[in-house]
Amino acid sequence: MDLFERMADKAYESVHFFHDAGTGLRAVVALHDTTFGAGLGGTRALSTYAAEAQAVDDVLRLARGMTYKAALAGLPHGGGKAVIMLPKGPFDRAALFTAFGRAVESLGGRYVTTEDSGTSPEDMEHVRKGTRHVVGLPRSRGGSGDPSPFTAFGVLRGIQAVAKFHLGRGDLQGTRVAIMGVGHVGYHLARLLVEQGAQLWVADVNENAVRRAQDELGVRAVSPRELPALDVDVYAPCALGGAIDDETLPLLRCKAVAGAANNQLREERHGVELARRGIAYAPDYAINAGGLINVAQEVAGYDEARSRDKCAKIYDTIYAILERARAEGTRPELVADRIVEERLAAAKKARGA
Ligand code: NAD
Repeated sequence: MDLFERMADKAYESVHFFHDAGTGLRAVVALHDTTFGAGLGGTRALSTYAAEAQAVDDVLRLARGMTYKAALAGLPHGGGKAVIMLPKGPFDRAALFTAFGRAVESLGGRYVTTEDSGTSPEDMEHVRKGTRHVVGLPRSRGGSGDPSPFTAFGVLRGIQAVAKFHLGRGDLQGTRVAIMGVGHVGYHLARLLVEQGAQLWVADVNENAVRRAQDELGVRAVSPRELPALDVDVYAPCALGGAIDDETLPLLRCKAVAGAANNQLREERHGVELARRGIAYAPDYAINAGGLINVAQEVAGYDEARSRDKCAKIYDTIYAILERARAEGTRPELVADRIVEERLAAAKKARGA
């Protein structure tokens, strides 16, 4: 499919290519749908894109994902994303990101960028020299800082909703949770769950991460191979994408899957199988939106209390999704997509688009 066909197929608004000879910048920005506001999404920077087609694939897929995530979280933002194909040889990183900032500025505020895989808050400070339309700056610069504690808080709220709806529990006291991956988000989630009186098991390929969780939080650790097979209430994938696949699914003995990782279902059929086995699923982009909600607050002037209030509403979002899935006899991940598509259609109709 050529680019225009792909844009038409999934209703992309625009795709922008930027090149700057002086710094070696090669960047692509995709805006999927800006019905609810400026496209908000991170900038991914990699030196390993084999060809620009790969960069375009990434930016298109990710920008559309941002439309859904922002709309479901009720943010006044649409979906946008950027990828930078980093030069293979040596280059001036500060100059390149400043040039990228100028590229973002040229879009006149239709795209607001932030950090993502391969970029850091420091890179965003260079982007800031070229544009006002960047968020995710350090707290010391009036920014929203590290998103991970907010993502973790949102996941906690999602787990509370799952526990209430699916397990009939008003609190998490004694609830058994297995967390795969105790990195930035998983560690904070473990801490919050311990505070709520949950019983925890964790696993991680990084021994230092496991030891920190054991020493600081007193949680039990098992190997990443053993964790999915534990008899727990909630399995929380907080490591890589594709956590629910042909390998893990037959092992699962949990009653629900609710975690921070992106793209948890390897393929659609893995969601079908979860539902067939009566395992509740909290759709990944609904439950892990806390970091995005937090960074979005920076656009209007950051306020931590407002950010926490908005992240707390992930409880209502997850509860409503599970409730509707049961009422309609369908799967939660399909309900999440449907809610977004209904909201977009209603907003477009209201403005006569
Ligand atoms: P991270 O890299 O800090 O932590 C991931 C942890 O998983 C690491 O400790 C790593 O050692 C471990 N891990 C990697 N492969 C593993 C494997 N095969 N088995 C077991 N453990 C493994 O990342 P993070 O920021 O905590 O993000 C975790 C997940 O949540 C990612 O999928 C990310 O895309 C998603 N997410 C993060 C945020 C955020 O605010 N950081 C927001 C939304 C979604």
